[in-house]
Amino acid sequence: MNEQANLPRLSIASLGGTVSMQAGAPGGGVRPKMGCDEQLANVPQLREMAQLEVATLGLLASASLGFAALLDVLAWARGEVERGARAVILTQGTDSLEETAYFLDLLWPFDAPLVMTGAMRAASQPGNDGPANLLAAAQVALAQGSRGRGVLVVMNDQVHAAARVRKTASLAMAAFESPGSGPLGEVVEGIVVYRQAAGRRQVLPLPQRTEHCVALLEACLDADTALLQAVARLGYAGLVIAGFGAGHVSSSWSEVLDELAPTLPVIVATRTGSGPTARTTYGFAGGEIDLQAKGVHMGGQLCPRKCRILLWLLIGSGRQQQLHSWLPR
Ligand code: GLU
Repeated sequence: MNEQANLPRLSIASLGGTVSMQAGAPGGGVRPKMGCDEQLANVPQLREMAQLEVATLGLLASASLGFAALLDVLAWARGEVERGARAVILTQGTDSLEETAYFLDLLWPFDAPLVMTGAMRAASQPGNDGPANLLAAAQVALAQGSRGRGVLVVMNDQVHAAARVRKTASLAMAAFESPGSGPLGEVVEGIVVYRQAAGRRQVLPLPQRTEHCVALLEACLDADTALLQAVARLGYAGLVIAGFGAGHVSSSWSEVLDELAPTLPVIVATRTGSGPTARTTYGFAGGEIDLQAKGVHMGGQLCPRKCRILLWLLIGSGRQQQLHSWLPR
């Protein structure tokens, strides 16, 4: 009897990132080099856990991934589940992981988990974390409690929700957090322990439109309005502002938004990194009460970068009128 045949099917694909990187010429730094098969060679336990389907879909630094590439990755992952995979794992660079995970989560229609992971140390560095993260990702992917939770980010033995996770450190091994809510769970001695119940999921259809752009600007002290004024002229379909504090801008930005908000969807989120935007507290010019009166949406719990992903996908499927209901308090 072939024992492999009784194991669940697990599909794993790599897109590049530090987890795939090795040093080349001295002084030249590390670059994406290892395909998915090579990454898995360092985690032999995986073949005892599941029948693996392996694909290398890219060898990019994650800052160079884009929405079109992610839609291709999504099509591959959906196909794998439709062909019987219990779960799917993607490895990629950690720099944009908080954005790619949320993008895919908004479009992931299955109970089967889509688990994303990476590494903070390159494969050629001592103490590299790629193999441990891959093993934990597989443990999460195959755990019954992971079903129905959409896209999960597994780093450093913690399991994070795609909508909440953020990279909060540039080089530290513990680089990922879910500010305000904490991780959904953790991997303890190979067992996945969830500390939070699965929430209700909302999923969007695939975008029919993909050529539009959504701008992201950050409010900052004594900022001029030149770029803000240029947004409509440059043809952007939407705008997100990483606002001060609970979702605020200067009075001069507020004046420009008075003209902009009736012409395109505008979200003001918080640049603080944690906590929701306010709705009913501040009444000064540029405060959230003033902004909402001008037709601006408040980002709620979503960080500015995730707001931009959401707005791009909503516009892509003609659902920008529903924006308010997608912004959690
Ligand atoms: N630290 C990043 C990584 O973990 C750099 C490169 C990238 O994001 O692709 O992969």
